Amino acid sequence: MTLAPYAITDQNSRGREHPIPDASDRNAFARDYTRILHSQALRRLQHKTQVFSSTEGDLFRTRLTHSMEVEQISRSCARQLGLNEDLCGVLALAHDLGHAPFGHMGQDVLDELLSKHGGFEHNHQALRIVDELESPYLEHKGLNLMFETREGLLKHCTPARAKALGAVGERHITGRPSSLEAQAVDISDAIAYVHADLEDAFLMGLLTCDQVKTAPGYPEALSRLEKKGFSHPTEADFSNEDPDTRRRAKASVQAVVREMMRHSIDDMIAHSKMTIQAAGPKSPEEARALGPLIGFSAGQRKLHSALRQFSREHIYEHPKVVNVRSKERQVLADLFVAYEKAPEEMDGFPLGKNEDLYRRLADHLSGLTDLRAHKEHERILRERPELLVKSNRRPSVR
Ligand code: MG
Repeated sequence: MTLAPYAITDQNSRGREHPIPDASDRNAFARDYTRILHSQALRRLQHKTQVFSSTEGDLFRTRLTHSMEVEQISRSCARQLGLNEDLCGVLALAHDLGHAPFGHMGQDVLDELLSKHGGFEHNHQALRIVDELESPYLEHKGLNLMFETREGLLKHCTPARAKALGAVGERHITGRPSSLEAQAVDISDAIAYVHADLEDAFLMGLLTCDQVKTAPGYPEALSRLEKKGFSHPTEADFSNEDPDTRRRAKASVQAVVREMMRHSIDDMIAHSKMTIQAAGPKSPEEARALGPLIGFSAGQRKLHSALRQFSREHIYEHPKVVNVRSKERQVLADLFVAYEKAPEEMDGFPLGKNEDLYRRLADHLSGLTDLRAHKEHERILRERPELLVKSNRRPSVR
């Protein structure tokens, strides 16, 4: 499709640090997408927790499948708004690359443990991964991605960190909004996870059908479907002796959650289209100067934040989720203390000449998958128990 004048293109891009010859079959952002697709950091996401620990089952979302869902929504948004679909694709696929094991808790624990050593922030780490840690090229370190891809990955950044990053961090100092493509990915992320978490929590049995029915947006979605002849299952249908009744009951709840998500996406695209048309930007720079242009209508925004609140109360703080999180928090804290005492237990030891031990610790710990973190914990307990005996460093974050 033709790109809108406000879309980022190869022509109006600030390019790569190390110029490479054009490819005849793909634009520069499609090449960035391939570079992420083949990265080790992306492969690790298959064993990293989104919300539900990947050691607890294998049917719900991981960070990798979540990223793929975000990609699908943001590509559809890009197509309808005339944005650069490939840039949205790569930003979506890479948006969670910097996450530590064990979901958001992992990042918070690392940030606390590293508080005297620069802290830890997953967006910043994502940039570090693509700029330095992934290094499959002989000519340079990092993946040599386009400027707009790198800038889009840095969703949040403190002014102090931004300063050290130069041009790519500039907007976090000037307060300039992100590109429309990055805005599209950001909201697609929010739409993807809030509905996926609701579905996963239901399929895992954390929420009953009656509880899911009280989720903000569910009754409205149900009534839209009922107008088309849909009828909602009862709680009794889930334990019916007929397997097909049970299957249909489950699928019915999934159909309503799907409808909620479809409605949310349609609202976001229609509202953003209207806002962009009214503002009439003629270039990506102009679009950014106009402030955030991609978003929900006022009504949907309210519904979306109510649904997030519902998830916080009923899913993320569910006793089962909290219980797993608390065990995993200790695993991460124990590993931190063990590696701090015996850095030779980490991969890639010894350190480089001017290498900072704590940055290496951050890279190593955040690079672990859930599975590997548990295995490392078991290994150290078996081989070097003295490193864990006095580890009573208990992070305060929940
Ligand atoms: Mg995400």
